[in-house]
Amino acid sequence: MSRSLEVEVGPTCISSGYCRNFAPAVFEAGADRKSFVKTNPVTETPALLEAFESCPVEAITARDADSGAEVFP
Ligand code: SF4
Repeated sequence: MSRSLEVEVGPTCISSGYCRNFAPAVFEAGADRKSFVKTNPVTETPALLEAFESCPVEAITARDADSGAEVFP
């Protein structure tokens, strides 16, 4: 069964857009062009994990929504 994750984008986002390309249903650009998470929790998918890995500045963090355990990084 897929986990539910609480995903956050930190202030170090440089608006590369990679996360939005991999998971457009999850990440959106704000008025400042930085990404934010549309709605939490988010269901874990391979595309979501690729989005996490794609971030060049490691701005994305994720925790298990049930246990609170760190999932990424
Ligand atoms: S991949 Fe990282 S730097 Fe690029 S838009 Fe997403 S959070 Fe920002």
